Amino acid sequence: MSNSVNAAGSTGVVVAMDGPSGSGKSSTSRGVADKLGLAYLDTGAQFRAVTSWMLEHGVDVHDAEAVAARAGEPVLVSGTDPLAPTITVDGKDVAEAIRSEAVTAAVSPVATVPQVRVRLLELQRGIIAAALQSGGIVVEGRDIGSVVWPDAAVKLYLTADAAARAARRTAENGSGSVEATEADLLRRDAIDSSRASAPLVVPEGAVHLDTTPYGLDEVIALVVDIVEQATGSRAAP
Ligand code: C5P
Repeated sequence: MSNSVNAAGSTGVVVAMDGPSGSGKSSTSRGVADKLGLAYLDTGAQFRAVTSWMLEHGVDVHDAEAVAARAGEPVLVSGTDPLAPTITVDGKDVAEAIRSEAVTAAVSPVATVPQVRVRLLELQRGIIAAALQSGGIVVEGRDIGSVVWPDAAVKLYLTADAAARAARRTAENGSGSVEATEADLLRRDAIDSSRASAPLVVPEGAVHLDTTPYGLDEVIALVVDIVEQATGSRAAP
């Protein structure tokens, strides 16, 4: 969809979508990718998949050395269709398992381990480079515009009030209290923002969008506009 030429010499657009949990990144990224005919990558799902593998293999997720020692083992495959994203580990579909409470509680500590990040960084860059050959990709995470693809044509940083984020997440999960969800989001934000390796930051050059007052369709329309302005192209109606 884009007419920009990136460093690799291919045409295509990378939209980097960073922000804390519950800011609306996933739904927005998928909606934007669908509207613009782009691929979609959920890097949080990849960190969750590594975490679920560690838990399944009895690795102590709070022991960074133990996690690092096995970081090279899980084989991850991410499907990038925004309407039906998939994720497998060692050939097993883990799309549902990675949303469990156990994985959610353990993922941020696992994501602080540099060996895990290096492994996933390589995977993420490969997926993005491949997607650039056919139009481009919307990539969501915590370090996309800062570390994974700093040359992204469009960088967005989505936030929302903690209470709004917790209410959205609780509705998505269909269970649990808003208060407990908010406490969990704030706990993960604190770990993600303070870690030494690729912390959650507002990337240089990012458009900061507070989604609190908007509905999903409004946020998608806003972001589609931003991407179209940045790339000088228009989405098909
Ligand atoms: O986006 P989601 O909430 O599924 O991400 C789960 C966790 O994965 C985050 O809390 C964070 O610890 C980690 N993560 C990360 N870097 C990314 C994406 C996710 O550290 N690019």
